[in-house]
Amino acid sequence: MKQSANPWASRLEASFTGNYRPAPLAFTRGEGMYLYTHDGDRYLDFAAGIAVNSIGHNHPDMTRALSDQARQLLHVSNLFINPPAVELAELLTERCFADQVYFANSGAEANEAALKMARRYMQVIRGENRFEFICALKSFHGRTWAAISATGQAKYHEGFQPLVPGFKHVPYNDADAIREAITPQTCAVLVEPLQGEGGVIEAKPGYLAELRQICDEEGILLIFDEVQSGVARTGHWFAHQYDGVQPDIMALAKGLGGGVPIGATLCTKEAGRGFVPGVHASTFGGNPLACRAGKTVIEVIEKEGLVERAKLMGESLSERFESLIAKHDMLIGQRGRGLLRGLVTPESVDRSQIVAAARAEGLLITTAGADVLRVCPPLIVGEGHLDEATERLDRALCSLS
Ligand SMILES: *Cc1c(COP(=O)(O)O)cnc(C)c1O
Repeated sequence: MKQSANPWASRLEASFTGNYRPAPLAFTRGEGMYLYTHDGDRYLDFAAGIAVNSIGHNHPDMTRALSDQARQLLHVSNLFINPPAVELAELLTERCFADQVYFANSGAEANEAALKMARRYMQVIRGENRFEFICALKSFHGRTWAAISATGQAKYHEGFQPLVPGFKHVPYNDADAIREAITPQTCAVLVEPLQGEGGVIEAKPGYLAELRQICDEEGILLIFDEVQSGVARTGHWFAHQYDGVQPDIMALAKGLGGGVPIGATLCTKEAGRGFVPGVHASTFGGNPLACRAGKTVIEVIEKEGLVERAKLMGESLSERFESLIAKHDMLIGQRGRGLLRGLVTPESVDRSQIVAAARAEGLLITTAGADVLRVCPPLIVGEGHLDEATERLDRALCSLS
């Protein structure tokens, strides 16, 4: 597919800070599983804005709900009650362990609130000097200072020292390492039930259950970051549910808004006890527009059976990947769950070249970690799209060998 120069590329270079390096494509419209450039080229979207566009592009229910909400009310602040926020909080708590919800605007903020909630609970409610968080290596929790401090990857720390104190990192999928890292100052354990940015690494069966047991024994909190893995992405409403384990606190964002910025920190009534008036807040957090979007996402997932679909399509995609792995030396395995999948490459392979070759074939995918092509299509994906994606990726890999 041609990737013609677009009129915004040079303007972006002149007017943006340098921290992004976008592909030379400007999308101006989306429809279901497809994105369209300004000059009409069509791309099959298996990136979903980094696991965000959970119900695809331009879903009629979302378009209707957002235009309706825009006509009614966009924002009131948390000085007042707004019905979409109450309704979304109920929809979320009905589907998981949580009793209560705090709304933020992004994944980093949802984690920031989770961390503040945990320290506040220990220090004010329990009256204990516990402040330390045990986190995993290869984790990703966002880009605010506390979130990078929680993140177990040195590349996100470089040039930002000193970090926020009180974070320790241990290998993922190693419960004994967590047990050994706990001290009388430990406040909580924070992990992703399926590491996304770190390379699509799923928790081993039993790992999360063991963490739950350790936290209970030690009297500390368990926090799951499901910003990427949550909201049906892995074939469960939340990824931790596959292991039948419940955290005390959970962070959500990405897929929750289907493209409208929203984050959420969910908690048990006990863990949330420290959040009393004035302790934490967000001006935009939980505003009527964002919550109406979140509510629509949950309703569409329910109505269209997308939790089950994510599971079935994920299995189907995984079978197709097996044949690609058998055919191409550049692919050596796969990881993931549901519709959050990684195709593993040897570390020597330049994955950005594969992403660019796929793009030239009209397929959008991303990378994650050091050795993975990340594939995370909207949850509305069908068998026909899986065929199309597999064929395009096959052609892309052939073009490189
Ligand atoms: C993307 C991501 C975040 C950060 O979310 P932002 O909305 O970019 O702040 C945090 N945790 C996980 C697991 C993520 O994948």
